Amino acid sequence: MYRTVYDLLTTGSDTDPALIAPGGPTWNFADLRAQVYRLAEWLQNHGLGRGDRIAIALGNGPAMAITFLAAATAATAAPLNPKYRRDEFAFYYEDTQARALIVAPGEGDEARAALRSDMLLIEAAFDSNHQLTFSTSGTAGSPRRDGLATPDDIAMILHTSGTTSRPKRVPIRHRNLAASTSNIITTYQLSAADRSLCVMPLFHIHGIVASLLSQLAAGGAVICPPGFDGLKFWSWVEQERPTWYSAVPTMHQVLLARAGRNTAIIKANPFRFIRSSSAPLPPVVMEQMEEVFAAPVIESYGMTEASHQMTSNPLPPGRRKPGSVGIGFGVEVGIMDEHGQLLPAGVKGEVVVRGPNVVDGYENNPEANATAFVNGWFRTGDQGYLDEDGYLCLTGRIKELINRGGEKISPLEIDDVLLRHPAVAEALAFAVPHPTLGEEVHAAVVLREGMSADERELREHCARLLADFKVPRAIHILSALPRGATGKLQRITMAKTLGL
Ligand code: ATP
Ligand code: MG
Repeated sequence: MYRTVYDLLTTGSDTDPALIAPGGPTWNFADLRAQVYRLAEWLQNHGLGRGDRIAIALGNGPAMAITFLAAATAATAAPLNPKYRRDEFAFYYEDTQARALIVAPGEGDEARAALRSDMLLIEAAFDSNHQLTFSTSGTAGSPRRDGLATPDDIAMILHTSGTTSRPKRVPIRHRNLAASTSNIITTYQLSAADRSLCVMPLFHIHGIVASLLSQLAAGGAVICPPGFDGLKFWSWVEQERPTWYSAVPTMHQVLLARAGRNTAIIKANPFRFIRSSSAPLPPVVMEQMEEVFAAPVIESYGMTEASHQMTSNPLPPGRRKPGSVGIGFGVEVGIMDEHGQLLPAGVKGEVVVRGPNVVDGYENNPEANATAFVNGWFRTGDQGYLDEDGYLCLTGRIKELINRGGEKISPLEIDDVLLRHPAVAEALAFAVPHPTLGEEVHAAVVLREGMSADERELREHCARLLADFKVPRAIHILSALPRGATGKLQRITMAKTLGL
């Protein structure tokens, strides 16, 4: 049983593929392990050991994967979105107390520009034998002889996505990652015969834990393209034959729109399953995907503070329920009222979880810790209920619920109704301040290419399927919806974005 990030690498057979660059080299497990240990040693020789935070600003790909594994093995990895601007990097260096930054040669201008004088700059690049090498002109201190990280050490620092408030800093320990990884392997019965196509960013918990670590820990290969690309996706599938991929609903929707042109590739390379997580998957999108891909589409529920996965629908022959995020695998799930009392099945409340994957607390945020941890449970900030079979149904984020004159409305229900209109490609219901009601319901939609519908028709469609008080008073037809770095819809700020 593995207990640390580097333990996860020990399952794979020496000669089995571990990392694959589509159309490029493959690294087997013996090679991956050797590189990770060599680079971990390099970091310690340069004064970076246990407890030190190493910022990483690399795009997706094998170099990022290996760098992350080495940094977590020797010290603490702090992966950052390489698209941040200088000021954002400056904030994250300060907030994580980074002692070093790893970038690619000739890249990462903004990350470099924010570098503090007390941080060591390290460049990571492959040599001609496809071995990753680190180089620097200095050192962060005298060589460390710390040994490798222990299960209780912090493997990585991540920030939450910042969908509902300023991103919170989450220290994730090796034991948290080991538990989450093992839960994911059990849920999807991952094995050495599987190949994951890693399209999720490796600076977000979803990509790191589901796409990368779980597949490596199961002894199978991870296909590492430079990032999500709805056009190139199909050639990666054709060349490297993944058995599954995990992504956010936005990405699935992009692929769905292009699937018609790629049916031959889909037929020749069937997925064993497709996993969706990190944002609600509208049931109608799930239905369409299952039809087009002829593979089970499995929705799962994850968050940074739980080292990603909390619940998932089961694989067949288990029952998948559209609109539900499934059952806990290695994680206990409950529903709590505002007084900290657990509620029975069928009653809506705040979703709470507990298990070895859940972190001990936020860093430097005593207020958030005081409200988030109650009677041994972690409050997720999401609202939902457990159905009669124990499946969790989410009804929205508590901060995103629309409060119309005291009537609490789940925007997800309205999104789904709008998406059932044939001309609607994307939908987002949101609250707009109202003088007497407090909040009123509006929605924004993006129409399908070549299709048309006006506001009146869309409102009539909603009125046929929703009670009057839930029908959006206005529907804004836009060319795109605002999204965060991982593709999450920015619901809370929508009224402000539109100047309403
Ligand atoms: P912040 O906490 O900073 O506001 P965030 O919650 O978006 O940002 P993450 O940890 O990346 O940051 O996301 C976790 C949240 O994503 C969950 O609390 C939940 O609201 C949402 N989520 C994850 N999976 C699903 C899903 N399958 N269906 C609906 N919502 C989901
Ligand atoms: Mg959150």
